[in-house]
Amino acid sequence: MNATTSTTPIGTPQARGRVTLVGAGPGDADLLTVRAVRALRRATVALVDDLVDPGVLRYLRRSARIVPVGKRGGCVSTPQAFIHRLLVAEAQRGEQVVRLKGGDPFVFGRGGEEVDALREAGVEVEVVSGLTAGIAGPAAIGIPVTDRRHAPGVALVTGHAKPGGQGPDWAALARCGLTLVVYMGTQRVADVVQPLLAAGLAPHTPAAVITAAHTARQRHARCTLATLVATLQADATLGSPAVLVIGEVAAMGSVMGAAIDAAAAASAGGAIGSNRPVMDSPEEVETVFRYSPPRGSNQAAG
Ligand code: SAH
Repeated sequence: MNATTSTTPIGTPQARGRVTLVGAGPGDADLLTVRAVRALRRATVALVDDLVDPGVLRYLRRSARIVPVGKRGGCVSTPQAFIHRLLVAEAQRGEQVVRLKGGDPFVFGRGGEEVDALREAGVEVEVVSGLTAGIAGPAAIGIPVTDRRHAPGVALVTGHAKPGGQGPDWAALARCGLTLVVYMGTQRVADVVQPLLAAGLAPHTPAAVITAAHTARQRHARCTLATLVATLQADATLGSPAVLVIGEVAAMGSVMGAAIDAAAAASAGGAIGSNRPVMDSPEEVETVFRYSPPRGSNQAAG
């Protein structure tokens, strides 16, 4: 098509809607990337999962429309197909849509399906990675998931296969020597532990549970593969959302114990008693991005 055959009437708004899938990280808004904050500042509409910490929403403009599309907390789940239609419809209306997801959009976040649906509909889409709970969660209690003294790598797996779908090959995972990080694994923890034990993973293999990592509700427990089910049953505060870590690294960083959770809670953005300023105006956010050299430094240097 050339300019003379264009049918766009003169004066038609040129605003093109687009969707940005944004990883909000596991909790504390301080763990957002700068790119994520920029996307939030631009958004006119935000479709928000319920694992996203409310503190993250402070970075949206006051005029932005927030649409909760969570699947937890006892609410009726929002069907994925409906989310796809909503994303497409909002973008086609010219909105700057942010699809805000807990952790990383491409790690058990169904981000791939959303990108496919948007591309199929001809909608421009961008993905902003976030810190995933399976790495940042263990790190919150001092577990380096790929510490090379203990494991040559890490497997991020689901403890909750899609309905009718194939779950992880636990027998293969039991033999692979990798650290296992299990998402969505607390509800059916016995279904994770039993096949690992049956396939020969040692009962004394260290294990850890990290719940609500990087939020004011953070809790954790250390145990072994053999005691993991009982550990979860004994403490209701270890419920969802939680990641399980199974492997030698799960014993690392255990010196501080409960103090770690307390410190994490105190530093979490939404923590009660947190005395950090809340940045909720564009001006304040911009100040964070602006570089100001320390007083007395030689600005010409470097
Ligand atoms: N995209 C997300 C994962 C979504 S699946 C990410 O990259 O982190 C949801 C699962 O993530 C939860 O069942 C839990 O296993 C894990 N999870 C999410 N947030 C968490 C948190 N703050 N602490 C511990 N686990 C968390």
